[in-house]
This record gives sequence, C-alpha cells and structure tokens, in this order.
Amino acid sequence: MKETMEFKTETKRLLDLMINSIYTHKEIFLRELISNASDAIDKRHYLSLTDEKLGASEYKILVEADKATRTLSIIDNGIGMTKEQLVNNLGTIARSGSKEFMDNLTDAQNKGEIDIIGQFGVGFYSAFMVAKEVEVYTKSIETGEPLKFTSEGLDSYTIESTEKEDYGTKIVLHLRENTEDVNYDNYLDEYTIKDLVRKYSDYVRYPIQTWVTKYDKKDENAKDDEEEKTHLELETINSMIPLWKKNKSEVTDEELNNFYKQKFMDYQDPLLSIFVNVEGMLTYNSLLFIPKRPPFDLYSEKYEKGLQLYTKGVFILDKCKELIPDYLRFVKGLVDSADLSLNISREMLQEDRSLKKIANNLEKKILSELGKMLKNDREKYEEFFKEYGVNLKYGLYEDYGAKKDQLKDLIILNTLNSENPMTFSEYVAQMPEGQKEIYYASGKDKTAVSNLPQMDLVKKQGYNVFVLTDDVDEFMIQVLAEYDGKKFKSINQGDLNLLSDDENKAIDSLKEEKKDLLAAIKESLNGKVEDVVLSKRLVDGAVCLSCEDGFSFEMERVLAHQNNPYAKAKKILEINPNHEVFKAIEKAYDSNKDNISKYANILYNEGLLLEGMPIDNPVEFTKDISELLVNSIEK
Ligand code: ADP
Repeated sequence: MKETMEFKTETKRLLDLMINSIYTHKEIFLRELISNASDAIDKRHYLSLTDEKLGASEYKILVEADKATRTLSIIDNGIGMTKEQLVNNLGTIARSGSKEFMDNLTDAQNKGEIDIIGQFGVGFYSAFMVAKEVEVYTKSIETGEPLKFTSEGLDSYTIESTEKEDYGTKIVLHLRENTEDVNYDNYLDEYTIKDLVRKYSDYVRYPIQTWVTKYDKKDENAKDDEEEKTHLELETINSMIPLWKKNKSEVTDEELNNFYKQKFMDYQDPLLSIFVNVEGMLTYNSLLFIPKRPPFDLYSEKYEKGLQLYTKGVFILDKCKELIPDYLRFVKGLVDSADLSLNISREMLQEDRSLKKIANNLEKKILSELGKMLKNDREKYEEFFKEYGVNLKYGLYEDYGAKKDQLKDLIILNTLNSENPMTFSEYVAQMPEGQKEIYYASGKDKTAVSNLPQMDLVKKQGYNVFVLTDDVDEFMIQVLAEYDGKKFKSINQGDLNLLSDDENKAIDSLKEEKKDLLAAIKESLNGKVEDVVLSKRLVDGAVCLSCEDGFSFEMERVLAHQNNPYAKAKKILEINPNHEVFKAIEKAYDSNKDNISKYANILYNEGLLLEGMPIDNPVEFTKDISELLVNSIEK
C-alpha cells in the first residue's frame, strides 16, 4: 500500500516558507525534533503508568549522522504515530503554535522580521529548513503498525507500510545541497551535533545520544608514524537534570557559582545568587544572579536586559525582557516553566499572563533578597549599592514613583555626619528631638557639600544632612516627597524654618527698613534673580543663592546636561544681614547710590561660584574685583 496525499493550503504555505527560508538560525530544527521526540517519550511513559507492558526498559533519543548518504536521523522510542495521526499531525497544521505563527507571518514578512521563526517553535516543519526530503518511520504503541511517511515538502506526501521493530519514531533528514552561504554538511559533524544539543536541549530529561569518535589504545608494537585508529562510541550528550530543577538543599554554593560563571561567561563569582522553586497554580524554577561587577555595557543603549527562558528544560529565548523590569536590568539568570508553551510567540509572550505573574514574583523575590542582604550583610549591601544603587534610584523615580514603596527602604545615601551611607529609616531614627524635616544637599562630594554656606544653620543645630551626588538623586527625593511623615527639605530651597520667632521678627523688620537697598540690588541685577532677601539660613557666609521649593539648581544642571537647557530654577540672592559685607554695602549705598550695581554683581557672582555655576561675565567680574582691590589697598 502506498498512498499519496495533498498537504492542506496553510501547511503548504508554511512548508514553502521553511524551504525558502533565509532564516539564519536554521539549526533550531534539531531542538524542535528533539522536543517532539521527548514529548513522544513522555506520552509513552505516561501510558505505561497504567499499563506496564507499554513501557520501555530505557528511554532515549538517538541522533545519528551518516556522511555517506548525507542523512541525519532523530530516533526515539516514544509513543509513535498511527496512520490517522500521521495525517492529522504531520499533514496538517494542527497545533496552535504553528497556527499562531501563520497568522503572524504576513505581518512579520512585511516587516522583514524573519527572525521570529526561532521564537515560535515551528515544530516538525522546521526540518525542511535543512532537508530536501524527510522520511518518518513510525510504529504506534496503539496499533503496532509500522508506517513510513515521506515528503519533499512540496504539495504532497506519501504514507506506506514499512518494517520497523521498535515502537517509536525515526525521522530521517536528507540534507539539502550545500550552497555558497550554507554548508548543510555541518549538521553531520559530531561536534556540531554535540554543540547544538548542549545549547538547546541540554536539559531534556531523557538521554540524547550520538556516535562519537574515540581513539583506539595504541598497540605497543605500533610504529610511531602509523596512523591512530579510531572507533565510534555511543555517548550521552545532554546533562539532563538542570541545576535549577534540583532540590535547593542539594545544590552547593560552589555549584551555583560555577554554573553562573560558565553560563554567563563571568570570571568572578556572582555577588548574589537566588534560587527559586515555585510549585502551585504556577510552577516554575528560576536561578537569578547579580554579577559582582556590572557588565561594561550596562548603561549603553545596546545592552539587552532579560532572562533566559526555558520550558520543560527546552531552551526558548536568550533574553526574555518581559521577565525583568528595567531598573533590575543587571540581573542575569533563567526561568524554566512548564506552564509556558514551547510554541509561544514574541507577541504572545508580551500578553502572556503566566509570564507576567512570574516576572512579578521574581521582582518581589529579588527585592526581598536585597532587603535581607541590607539587614544581614551591610558591607556586601554597600558594595552592591555602589555598583547598582543608581538603578534602584531610577526605579524609584520612574513612572511617577509607582514603585516607591517597594524601593524606598533599599536606598542608602551618604550623610554629612556618618561615615557610612544611611537608609531613610536610619536617618529618621537618629533625628534629634525638634528636627521636623529630613535635610539634603547636592554637591560633588561630602566635603564640597559640607562647606556650603547654606549649610551653616542646619549644621549649627546639629542636624544631619543627606549628601546627594548622583544625577537622579534630587529627582528621586522629589518623587518621594516625604518619609515616615517627614518632609524632605533641601538646605538651599524655601524657608528652612530654623530661626526663633524673635530672630524671624528681627530680620523681617530689618528687611522692611532696608527695602530700598534690596530693591536697588535686585533692579541692578536686571532680571537675573527673582528676589533679593535678607537670609534666614546663613551664619558665617556673606551671600548665597537659593530658590523656591520644587525645581532646583541641581535639577537645572542635570537637565542642561541632557540637552534641556530651558528649564531654569528661579534664583534668590540671599544676603547675611549680620555680615560685615552687608554693613559695608549699606554704607556704600548711603554715600553713593550709583555704586550699587557693581557690588550687586559681585555678590551675585559669588553666589553662582558657591553653587558651582558658571558666572555670566568673568571678564567684568575680575575687573570689578581688581578695582576693589586697588581701592582697598589705596585706602
Ligand atoms: P508540536 O510538537 O508542537 O505539536 P509538530 O509540528 O512538531 O508540533 O508536531 C505535530 C505533532 O506530530 C505533535 O504534536 C505530535 O503529536 C506528532 N509528532 C511529531 N513528532 C513526533 C514523534 N517523534 N513521535 C510521535 N509523535 C510526533
């Protein structure tokens, strides 16, 4: 008996695509066929649970290359296929995965995204990417009837009786002729086979074997120039049990570290490894690692975040970005879930609810492990934060602080009075009675910040101050707004509210008295400052610049760096009413009102210099200073 049958139209389209595929990762055909073989063994094994005689003594998958005939065979002792199954499974696109693939195909083709093939798992048909003809020998455990299916992947296929001893399926691929671009003979090479199996199917739970060349032991009498003799041995290539499928307690730290180094090509042990085994509504295993040093390209646009994705031990995707939020982009690792389909597509992945759930759980897990590290191993956490803290800060700032509650207690920042960085809660705990707000100041480093004249009054009160040095810091603080009911307060913005009522009143009445002078200074500065006031924050310094609460000088600086020079903080020139300088200016103003513009400019430029901002007109400034010098020396 030999029957010829037509492929269905959509199957023809898929076959046509495979045959004419310019897809560069044709190699995935082996993964697909091995996965089918493994599923077939699963099914047989399942049947044997209720009917012992249906089982096999040993399950395995054999990959056999024959260079003479240019064939590659994938042989399993699984459940096999009946004639009806051959027609339904191989003659038709039955699977949802392939269907989905077809539905997306036109769209993808239009976009030239032929790359999606590898992410779909197009199953059996992928064989035609490398084979000009495929023969399937199969013997079903249900019927025991040996059958042969043959197809050249064109319009039709044939099914006929054949001889086959064992249950299961043997798929024989007659490789296509080599072309300039593709050397199909490669797939007959034992090293290539080993490589591909290790890359894609290492954790398939049945042994995958192939014939490998071994050197014979040399005959003692053999002459030196005699060629070494070889023989072939059957070898199991895959490691079968993935580390992440083992029981957590069985895996040593060393094993984890070695696995990380080998898999993610690092020469150092990871800073943190996390082992996740989850069983229940959603079953998955995951291994997560934080490298000791961030990848060199972590902050470049080319860097691709993501975890490796496996389903049932079969490798699907190298960088599944849906599994990790942006701010944890430095985390490496993998996820293996039986709840995801091998045939899942890129588009489906984004929508997949199980995947989203897994991603959420992993995010929580990572944050909770970091929290533990902060609590139990402070030194290590500080090391971690030095390398990656800025990512957490961005995470807190992103999406208008959507994640602030999860992240705020993982932030540590340097402070004026402590040697090591502090959490917000530690800061609050050390606040002396009477301190109502959490102070912060931005600058190059601790010393620079400590020397700022705006710091005077806060320091005098003995209050600690967070020292902000990262670009994102003030933006993060802005999003947080408060911690534990205490507002964040910049030392050079708004009213510090640190003076007594009497002190306040004294300054207010002096301000009233000197309003002409202050107005004259403001006027001569010609719109450069929003206001000129008598300072309520300076103690030793003569002048400083401050601004209203909200948008700050630091933010202005950061945005200017990001090519947004238009956002400006409104400057207020503060003069210390108790300083000699103020008294001198008062005098000067009283004797000759015309001089004020020169003094105003000098004070303003001093303020700019203190803030680390460029002065508007350095030539004029130095001229003014020189003139003053001469005057004072002449006196
Ligand atoms: P998928 O494996 O994703 O369902 P395929 O196109 O690869 O899609 O295969 C279609 C069907 O053919 C499989 O679902 C399975 O029922 C059957 N099949 C494929 N390979 C084998 C095999 N080696 N042994 C038994 N059945 C197989």
